[in-house]
Amino acid sequence: MKPRLATVIAAALAAPLLSAPAYAADARPTPPRTGFEQTNGARWTTQPEEQDFLATVDRASTRVTLTRIGTTEQDRPLQLVRIAERPTTRTVLLICSQHGDEPSGREACLTTVRDLAYTKDARTKEFLSRTTLLVVPTANPDGRAADTRGNSDGVDINRDHLSLRTAEARAMATILRDRRPDVVYDLHEYTATPLYYEKDLFDLWPRNLNTDAAVHTEARTLSRSYVRPAAGSAGFTTGTYGIWTDPVTGDPIRQVAGDGQERILRNMSGVKHSVGLLIESRVEPPTEGTPEPDNNRRRVNSQLAALKGLFSFAGERGRQVDTATAAARLTGYRDTGPIYLGGADNDPAEPTEVIENPACGYRLTAEQFAEVADELALHGVRTRPDGAGAYVPLRQSLRALVPLLLDERAPYHLTAGEADVNC
Ligand SMILES: [Zn+2]
Repeated sequence: MKPRLATVIAAALAAPLLSAPAYAADARPTPPRTGFEQTNGARWTTQPEEQDFLATVDRASTRVTLTRIGTTEQDRPLQLVRIAERPTTRTVLLICSQHGDEPSGREACLTTVRDLAYTKDARTKEFLSRTTLLVVPTANPDGRAADTRGNSDGVDINRDHLSLRTAEARAMATILRDRRPDVVYDLHEYTATPLYYEKDLFDLWPRNLNTDAAVHTEARTLSRSYVRPAAGSAGFTTGTYGIWTDPVTGDPIRQVAGDGQERILRNMSGVKHSVGLLIESRVEPPTEGTPEPDNNRRRVNSQLAALKGLFSFAGERGRQVDTATAAARLTGYRDTGPIYLGGADNDPAEPTEVIENPACGYRLTAEQFAEVADELALHGVRTRPDGAGAYVPLRQSLRALVPLLLDERAPYHLTAGEADVNC
């Protein structure tokens, strides 16, 4: 396609990620535009358009690698985009639109991939020389095609990060296991309740009590000191996901979502020692009668503003994040401390939800192991043969995950292993 003048100008004017124009007007080849951009927000980018867009970016940029990481029930590809100047120890993962009817995060992810792929900006290139960015642009392709929250079986993928029944959650678990991202950033949208719950953006860190303290602190810092200020300076209001606030005082008055359950990606990120953050843009326009394309652009722009905060965080606090996640991945080998089967960072666990003296492992019969071996492997949980079955020790990097998967008291356990207390 010949570059039209309007395309070139729009590309040159596109907001740079970190500073200065991301690419010059004379850049060749012309960066592709999403269906959303081409229609100025009148409609969302289709999946065939996404395929062309990503293939073009992949061909044009040496720093981009596009791989297929799975296939959905309806035969759509699950894809991972990797953007890096060179191999790095630091990895940031974006999971976009796990809920198929929450499309704006996906649009923000697609243009972010493009802008980073084509950038000539020295600071952005410097950022990419220290940080590898992984992006799953469409985490729920069948749901996106049907504009539904769940996948084609009606399963909410964001409640499947423990059981791993869906192809979508299995693909994401593989990324967490093999790429061990330092940051997992999960883009969603929400429906407002006027006066009480209507900020442009809400975010939330892992509330699960098994999250390492230093990792939890970094996730709070990402929210409080980077994402919210970045969104705020772009004119967007922010708050805490799941918490209604008093319209006059701003004080929290009620919690409607955002608990600590481990099967949600935000919490599983913490259990797996990544700095997790959920981000939710508001679907409804700020004022009634706002034209739909204008409102759609607001939704996407709010996500892009928050992403700038994420990238500043990765750039500025990278070393602390590396240190926190690396240390957290080792603490399981000490095999000490309680494990929490419930509760949250704002809701203390009941005594029955705390395993004060965890077993040293769980024994699985041959039958049980046959049933869950795939899922244990996808999580990266270490096992060893034990008679005809298997033994799953707690002394491993994902220590807390073992009882969450195998203890009969855990609310979402896969199977009830026999606790080994003779150690
Ligand atoms: Zn969602």
